[in-house]
Parts: sequence; C-alpha cells; structure tokens
Amino acid sequence: MTASRTSNAPVKITGPGGLTAPEEECGLFGIYGMVDAATHTALGLHALQHRGQEAGGIVAYDGEQFHSHRALGLVGDNFNSTDTMKQLVGDMAIGHVRYSTSGGTVLRNIQPLFADFKFGGLAIAHNGNLTNAIKIRHELVQRGCIFQSTSDTETIIHLIAISEYGRVVDRITDALSHVEGAYSLLAITQKKMIGLRDPYGVRPLVLGRLGDAWIMSSETCALDIIGAEFVRDVEPGEIVIIDDKGLHSIKPFSKKPNRFCIFEYIYFARPDSIMEGRSVYEVRKNIGAELARESHVDSDLIVPVPDSGVPAAIGYSQQCGVPFELGIIRNHYVGRTFIEPSDQIRHLGVRLKHNGNAAMLKGKRVVLVDDSIVRGTTSVKIVEMVRSAGAKEVHMRISSPPTAHPCFYGIDTPQQKDLLAAQYDLDAMAKHIGVDSLAFISVDGLYRALGEEGRNIEVPQYCDACFSGDYPIALIDHDKNPAQQQLSLLGEHK
Ligand code: AMP
Repeated sequence: MTASRTSNAPVKITGPGGLTAPEEECGLFGIYGMVDAATHTALGLHALQHRGQEAGGIVAYDGEQFHSHRALGLVGDNFNSTDTMKQLVGDMAIGHVRYSTSGGTVLRNIQPLFADFKFGGLAIAHNGNLTNAIKIRHELVQRGCIFQSTSDTETIIHLIAISEYGRVVDRITDALSHVEGAYSLLAITQKKMIGLRDPYGVRPLVLGRLGDAWIMSSETCALDIIGAEFVRDVEPGEIVIIDDKGLHSIKPFSKKPNRFCIFEYIYFARPDSIMEGRSVYEVRKNIGAELARESHVDSDLIVPVPDSGVPAAIGYSQQCGVPFELGIIRNHYVGRTFIEPSDQIRHLGVRLKHNGNAAMLKGKRVVLVDDSIVRGTTSVKIVEMVRSAGAKEVHMRISSPPTAHPCFYGIDTPQQKDLLAAQYDLDAMAKHIGVDSLAFISVDGLYRALGEEGRNIEVPQYCDACFSGDYPIALIDHDKNPAQQQLSLLGEHK
C-alpha cells in the first residue's frame, strides 16, 4: 500500500492506480451518510457484478482523507477481507465495476479515478461512453494537458481542472457542457456526493434511501441488497447533489428527448431491477409473449438459453401454452461467456457453461429462446448441443431485433463486420446457426412489450441504435470516414 499526502485532500491508494481504457458497460454504486459506507458499497457492487466482472474499485472519504482500493477480478474476491475493508474508512464512498472485452485487461483500467484539484480531492466513476472524447483530448493536449490514460473519465477530470468556475458542481457542469455521449457519473468530493445522467438519459442511475443515508446506484437490485428503499430514477440531464444540507438537484443542460437504452431491458440489467418505472423481469416476459404472438411454431417444448433467455421463454410459453422446460442446464461457476476476451476462450467458454438436458430434449420439437445474437458464437454451440442431446427439431426465437449496428454508448458490441445480423439475412443466419427456423422480435413488438403502441419514428422513445442504426447522439470520434474523422479530431469538422 502507498500513501500520498497533499495539502487539500490526502489520499491513500491501495492496489493499482492510473490509466484506463475506454469505458464499456459498467456498474456504479455510492452512499452518503452511513457508517461503514465502503462495506455497503461492496455489497452494492456485488449486486451489480453482472454489469462488469473484470475489475472493481471503491473510494471512501472519512472527513480527512480519501481511501481507495482497486483490483482486477470479482467484488467478492477483492472486498472480502477485514484488512481491506478496514482501510476504506468513512461515511461516504463510491464504487465501480467494469468489464472490457478487449485483450488489454490491465490493472490501470480500474475506477473510480481520483484527482486533486484546486478545490480539493474528487473521486469519479463513469458508466457509458463519450462520443467526442478523442476530439476533446486532442484539444486538451494542445493546451498542455498531460494525459496518463486513454480514458473518457480522465477527459472529464481535465475539463473539470481547467474550468474557470469556482464551485465544484459548476465546474462539473462546465466540463460536461463540452462532452457528447452517453454517461452516468458518480463522484465524491470532501463534502458532497454527486450523481448525474446525460441529457438523453441513455444509461441508468437511481436514487435510494437507507435511514438518513442517500444512495445512488446503476440499478435498484443493489438497493435491495442493503435493504435500502428505492426513491426514484435520477432524471435525464439531472445533477443530484447530496451534502450536509440534504439533497438538491439541478438541470443545467438544454432538454433532450429521453432515449433510455432499450438493451438494458433486453439483456443487461438484472431482471429484479426496476428501470424507468418498469420491472425488467416483466418487460422480458412481455417480450417473450409478443415473440410468441409474432412467430410461434408448432413445438413440444419452450427451452430458455439460461440465464438471459429465461424470463422471455416463460412469457413465450405462457402465451402459446406449450410447456416451459429447462432443456439446457447452466454451470453457475462460469462467468458470462461474452466477456472472455479472445475468440478461442469464447468458444471454450460456451462449452464450459451449458449442457443439453437429454431427458427433456430427446425426440422433441424444441423452441429455444435467447435474448440476442451478436456474433452468433453462442447460438451455433447451443443448437449443436441441443441436437446432440436428441432434439428432433430446433427453432430459435430471439427476444431482441437483429443486432446489426455497434453500440457507441457504453454497451460493448463488436464492430459491425463481426455482427452476424450485419452480414447475413434471416435465412442465411438460420443456416449458419443450424436451426429449422429463426425469428427475432420486431422493433414494434419490442416497443409494445414496453407499453408503447410501437416505435415512434419521429422521436423514438428509447435508444435502439444497435437495432435501427439510428444514433441519437453525434458519433464525433467514430465517423465511418477516416479522413473526416481526422478533420473532426482537428476540430474542423463536426
Ligand atoms: P454471441 O455468441 O456473440 O452471439 O453472443 C450472444 C450472447 O451473448 C447472448 O446469448 C447474450 O446473452 C450475450 N450478450 C449479448 N450482448 C452482450 C453484451 N453486450 N455483453 C455481454 N454479453 C452479451
């Protein structure tokens, strides 16, 4: 452990510090005004582990000093020892879990980041992705800023540092007025916990209460784990500030249409979470029911691809009246397949994770229900496994529309060339996967499952860019034309 003291806010760092790669899907949890804030934060992060399994970190503040511990691996492995938790003293803490699918899994990628400013110390954690971080970074480097990482979060830190405003909240607001993208942020200073969502509200953040303490979290399931009450979602574009005067909030940005990420409902969030007033579990069941209405086929069994296909398969089965059975058994000691960095491990991972339940499948016409097809790796293996367990027919039903476009807003999807739906039409996909039939929920069916009449073409109610290619926030760093991107990096093109 190393300790560094500064005039403003001493910080003690354990574990690695420093650089981070671009943020992908992540989980945030913070608590203000609770003895043992870090222990509660560790529990909250444990409930958010599905949002990131690569690494986790917690920064706590005890009124005099910041304490930080960050490590690669699971929360339960890194925040379980009394020794570690004893270091993280204070009644205010924030934490972060993250994953990246790139091979560059390194210690320095871990958040929350900490920086000392003119006004004191600030720890900050980020879920999402900025779409003009490279452009801003070039501008900042030209102004003399020295970056230690490629991180979006560090870009925000520099923008806060150079802001000419006095109050920390004004500096953060000023910093964010320069950025584009999808982000939820959580920060602590020596006096405040600050949480906010981008003006479109793409990424989630909720507010909770436990006694006198305030909590902010990516999902409500992390409130449940510590017995906290769910108060409300932080609103799109809202900055919530909690200090010794209580909670207050501002909305300094111009209003934008709400575009909450629809993929949170389909796959990413935990089914026991409530997002934007809707139970994720119920939405998934509704999607399954819509899917059955749209594309049911004669069959003997409805079988989920566990675990992500389970609620949709229940809804599907209840709608069509064909029995739901666990025709695939999942080994719970293997993490999410997709998260493994290399193709080779990804292939191996699928075999390690699932096994066909021959007692259920033999001689049956089976409808398999899964949440999404990305590269198609999982589906190919699963179908092969179900056939070798004796299924007579295998039909695949997917509770999302075809994923044909990459996400630039914080869900990690591969480049377009690696997306099966971007390369093949429906028949070719069915052939590739080896199924007797394949169907995806329609975009309107998905919106109906969310209580809408359908997708509003003028102003869609959600961000569904991964399905529609309609990106609500400018992709400044991701221009498809490299020459144009170069110009935009020079600030000459938007
Ligand atoms: P693939 O094998 O590439 O087609 O991946 C599809 C599987 O990965 C689905 O069964 C999903 O449950 C899961 N999945 C989809 N999107 C993601 C994501 N962004 N991160 C992690 N897992 C995902």
